[in-house]
Amino acid sequence: MPISSQPRFPLATLPTPLHELKRLREALGGPRKCPRILIKRDDLTGLALGGNKARKLEFLVGDALRGGATVLVTTGAEQSNHARMTAAAARMAGLGAALVLTRKPACGPPQGNLLLDYLLGAEVHFVPAGPDPAKATGDGEAAKVAEVMAALKERGERPYLIPIGGSSPVGACGYVAGTLEIVQQLLSMGEAPSRLYYAAGSRGTQAALVLGAKMYSAPYLLYGVAVSGGEPEKTGRAVRIANETASLLGVGARVGPEDFVTDQGYFGAGYGIPTAGCLEALRMLARHEGIFLDPIYTGKVMAALIDHIRRGQIDPSEAVLFLHTGGAPALFAYAEQLELSVDF
Ligand SMILES: *Cc1c(COP(=O)(O)O)cnc(C)c1O
Repeated sequence: MPISSQPRFPLATLPTPLHELKRLREALGGPRKCPRILIKRDDLTGLALGGNKARKLEFLVGDALRGGATVLVTTGAEQSNHARMTAAAARMAGLGAALVLTRKPACGPPQGNLLLDYLLGAEVHFVPAGPDPAKATGDGEAAKVAEVMAALKERGERPYLIPIGGSSPVGACGYVAGTLEIVQQLLSMGEAPSRLYYAAGSRGTQAALVLGAKMYSAPYLLYGVAVSGGEPEKTGRAVRIANETASLLGVGARVGPEDFVTDQGYFGAGYGIPTAGCLEALRMLARHEGIFLDPIYTGKVMAALIDHIRRGQIDPSEAVLFLHTGGAPALFAYAEQLELSVDF
């Protein structure tokens, strides 16, 4: 079934802008040292402060409504952008929202995404973080989800479970359609960037970008930057999601692990723990372009791109494309780390 016949509930303001970062290029040495840097503004998808999950949720909510769901259920870290956007999407579709979030010890009043989850009236359940601070989710998560699903059914609700990050074949339709949008924008601008830099998290975006690039003959090499460890299992997951999405859409294209580039060099101590390069990238994009990156995903991706440019790994005659996947609401939960490392 082609993408236009998948159930889809409109949530995002599309197409998002795609433009050049001229001042950042100047700050990185100008045309003699730095390629042209293009940015795809999926931080501006518009769903409750935006981000990449809006594209996935259009198809996930479409599927949920088709099945007669009454509540969306999903999981994530305490500062999950996906959870915040799922709660907002549920409200726009007239549904309830239940979130199972992993909470780190010693936290004060709700901030950032969690504050917005409460404002959206989501039913929030917590599981404690495990001993490893670099892991996104706690050990008791699956059991808690089962408990929440059972309680909702008991109350006569019809819950629709969305996997972490919205990373499923249905959710992946979002960035297959998103790839077509990017390819068409590049074509109309006469641009053919050599690389597309993006964050590899729960890997649904990655799976869809890789499949979409094959389907629509994208000009760029996809350059994923991991925001947490877990290879080779996570690439295995991405391959599986991509090929199941291809089946769902009835397209012949198939992908294998050889189609994936995922740089493991920039996540530092682990998920949600900012690196020095990440904090520098946050500051540079704010001060040279007036754009907010986030401390968990896009800051680390931009740190990788900046590092590659400084090391002379990208020919200055080329153009590269950076996918801004959103996440700025989490900045407010990182006030202490930002205060210590950014010269206010
Ligand atoms: C979820 C998220 C990503 C990663 O997308 P996945 O599909 O989970 O890999 C990147 N950036 C931001 C801001 C996100 O919220």
